[in-house]
Amino acid sequence: MSGPLFDTLALIGVGLIGSSIARASRAQGAVRSIIATARSSKTRKRVAELGLADKVVETNAEAVEGADLVIVCVPVGACGAVAKEIGKHLKPGAIVSDVGSVKGSIVRDMAPHLPKTVHFVPAHPVAGTEHSGPDAGFAELFENRWCILTPPEGTDPAAVERLAAFWRRLGANVEIMSAEHHDIVLAITSHLPHLIAYNIVGTAADMEQVTQGEVIKFSAGGFRDFTRIASSDPVMWRDVFLNNKEAVLEMLGRFSEDLAALQRMIRWDDGEALEAHFTRTRAIRRGIIEAGQDTEAPDFGRPHGHEE
Ligand code: NAP
Repeated sequence: MSGPLFDTLALIGVGLIGSSIARASRAQGAVRSIIATARSSKTRKRVAELGLADKVVETNAEAVEGADLVIVCVPVGACGAVAKEIGKHLKPGAIVSDVGSVKGSIVRDMAPHLPKTVHFVPAHPVAGTEHSGPDAGFAELFENRWCILTPPEGTDPAAVERLAAFWRRLGANVEIMSAEHHDIVLAITSHLPHLIAYNIVGTAADMEQVTQGEVIKFSAGGFRDFTRIASSDPVMWRDVFLNNKEAVLEMLGRFSEDLAALQRMIRWDDGEALEAHFTRTRAIRRGIIEAGQDTEAPDFGRPHGHEE
């Protein structure tokens, strides 16, 4: 293991992702020290109890004073307000980043509040679970997962590379793309699947002919996986849909058309077309397994063998 990549890491928000970054940074010796803060005193107290940071402070402004790397790990809709609070307190030359699941809105909301003296490099570690809070994180969360960086045009390439090196140290593979492209890709690979899960679980809950008991009893028939995805954090996902509206609506439109085509195949007893469709999707599943991206958890999951 080589030496630390940053002196001081400031984490604003210490839930699943923030606490996993803290644990992984420690485990990999990626930084010399960690300063953390969270919105509620309850979470700050828990972060101190778990020993996730060298110092736990009360305000966002205090957390970033002197930090070389600042990572904002709060719901997407809260990032703009955080940027406004920290803007004047950032150390010149610091790298400011985030972990939000949407990138276009993060650039729109955060960039105007950040001084020209810092490097803003938004990031999205494509790794997670349906659990929340500082107890839910673990050091291996990012291992062999993708972390997408979306530096705005004109960002210093050296700063992008420093952040990329940090994520690689945490075990992630790094890819760089525009915020716009990120939001389209994630709309189909993550956001739409979550919406479908939230919808099907809601539909089942409203059924009158099938009892709740039967839904639970026979859930191994496919429903169980949806319930796990649909138990993901309501605030986080509210913010994802409200902030990636256009791409999600575009994907939803395509999805509805394709669903109508399947509906027609069933109505017209077109077994051949159904079989052809399912054969094609089976091949996609094989591709995911071959790429090593199949895990037990939804939304890109935890590594194999991790016990909670
Ligand atoms: P989490 O476990 O619920 O933690 C959220 C943290 O943000 C907590 O420290 C919470 O503070 C704080 N917070 C919540 N609302 C806030 C607000 N309005 N202002 C300031 N702080 C606030 O969430 P998470 O799963 O770590 O998600 C954090 C970010 O990571 C989100 O932007 C999400 O899009 C992104 N992300 C999530 C996943 C995933 O699978 N979960 C994967 C990749 C990226 P308190 O505890 O004090 O309330």
